[in-house]
Amino acid sequence: MVNLTTKKNPIPEQKPLVRNKNFKEVAFGYSEKTAINEAMRCLQCRTRPCTKGCPVNVRIPDFIAKVAEGDFEAAYQIISETSSLPAVCGRVCPQENQCEGNCVRGIKGESVGIGRLERFVADWHARHSKPEDAPKPAPSNGRKVAIIGSGPAGLACAGDLVKQGFDVTIFEALHKAGGVLVYGIPEFRLPKDIVQREVDKLLAMGVKLVTNAVIGRSISIDELMDEEGFEAVFIASGAGLPQFLNIPGENYLGVYSANEYLTRINLMKAYRDDYDTPFRVAKRVAVVGGGNVAMDAARCAKRMGAEEVYIIYRRSMDELPARKEEVHHAQEEEVIFRLQNNPVQIIGDENGYVQGIECVQMEMGEPDATGRRRPVAKPDSNFVIDCDAVIIAIGTSPNSLIRTTTKGLQANKKGCIDADEKLQTSREGVFAGGDAVTGAATVIKAMGAGKKAAQSIAEYLYAKDNKSNGGTDK
Ligand code: FAD
Ligand code: SF4
Ligand code: SF4
Repeated sequence: MVNLTTKKNPIPEQKPLVRNKNFKEVAFGYSEKTAINEAMRCLQCRTRPCTKGCPVNVRIPDFIAKVAEGDFEAAYQIISETSSLPAVCGRVCPQENQCEGNCVRGIKGESVGIGRLERFVADWHARHSKPEDAPKPAPSNGRKVAIIGSGPAGLACAGDLVKQGFDVTIFEALHKAGGVLVYGIPEFRLPKDIVQREVDKLLAMGVKLVTNAVIGRSISIDELMDEEGFEAVFIASGAGLPQFLNIPGENYLGVYSANEYLTRINLMKAYRDDYDTPFRVAKRVAVVGGGNVAMDAARCAKRMGAEEVYIIYRRSMDELPARKEEVHHAQEEEVIFRLQNNPVQIIGDENGYVQGIECVQMEMGEPDATGRRRPVAKPDSNFVIDCDAVIIAIGTSPNSLIRTTTKGLQANKKGCIDADEKLQTSREGVFAGGDAVTGAATVIKAMGAGKKAAQSIAEYLYAKDNKSNGGTDK
């Protein structure tokens, strides 16, 4: 029986003014009863518009039907056919632009809570699975594949290759695996034990992980292939190089890139008393940018003890690129939005510490060549926001280390590695995907790229065998 309620079942959450002082997860997740009730809102549309909106085509109506029947394990198995990280994606996918944005229930009310159901199913599976249910390592075929980077792209690729018997080694520059999932996205949105669970699963299946290994510095891709016997490489090194505003004052003490700020808090656990990570608590924090990274930095600043936290963004509320839910949560947590404002300089005191940020007000200008109206500064509208820390969250691009140390590896003007539809780069045997190719994007797109790369690498290695056997293999 279909549940015709127009609103999604709400997800229980910590109260805003309690949670903005701790790092525990904001949302608690659905109970079994609520999940079944939400699943019954699904109309089981024959044309499956929701699935078309998902970058990896999760069979959404099928898994939801299983939830409605109370068969949560079957629901998990359906999601796992196409997604390696459902507990992560259920929490952080921008569902409103993807699966839920296409849901027909969204036309006359709220879409089905697809992300919430996916999270529920993944968490249910984690609570109920036994160690003996863990996937077993496949018999090794002895072919060595190197993966550079342990974010969602690298983890998904490793999982699919090891299942086919490849000898997979992940090389990770940091001391912990997980990429942005551990160093960027905060604990209160994505608990780190969920990511660790996925990493442990891969290790149990036989994937090798080498941390503190900066490819291009510790060892190059050419050396991995020519001297260490790796027959294929997947570059999944992300887009972790921060962009700056290039305005006066960016070198004052108290100005951070969001990446550095979030890494100190998330990866190096500056919020915990049992860690001695250096961290200067600021009273008034200005965060420049309007994406997920800016929201995460602002919400972390609140939790680290700032009294006032500002988001400074040059466009309007409707154009904020962050997930709607994150903007809503930031507002509830008393982050102050200063929209249609643009910084022109950072002001410092005589000791070189940040004292304020000077901004101008913006208004919409004439449409440009693309037809989109660009914000322009209003004349004589300068004003100063007093603050003692500024966090820059205006975007990132891929680091140049790998492309400058790998012979014949081509990249575009933005520094993103060139890869074709099979994710093959300009170098034979070298594949690339995720943010390293697309620039900063989403977890699910990176995970999808990792799965595609695994398929292309397997095809490439089998075709290589076929060639060396004179084309006699079937
Ligand atoms: P990454 O996750 O960046 O992983 C790359 C890994 O490669 C890193 O661990 C890095 O240390 C390692 N590496 C880099 N260079 C080398 C080298 N030379 N040698 C060895 N290792 C190397 N997306 C969403 O869908 N929803 C969200 O809510 C969301 N929030 C975000 C919040 C923040 C703060 C940030 C920064 C990003 C967010 N994103 C979000 C984007 C998403 O996390 C990324 O698109 C995704 O993680 C990209 O995956 P990846 O595997 O390509 O790269
Ligand atoms: Fe939606 Fe992401 Fe799940 Fe796809 S993976 S169904 S986009 S939550
Ligand atoms: Fe169910 Fe919405 Fe998908 Fe239709 S579009 S099958 S209602 S989730």
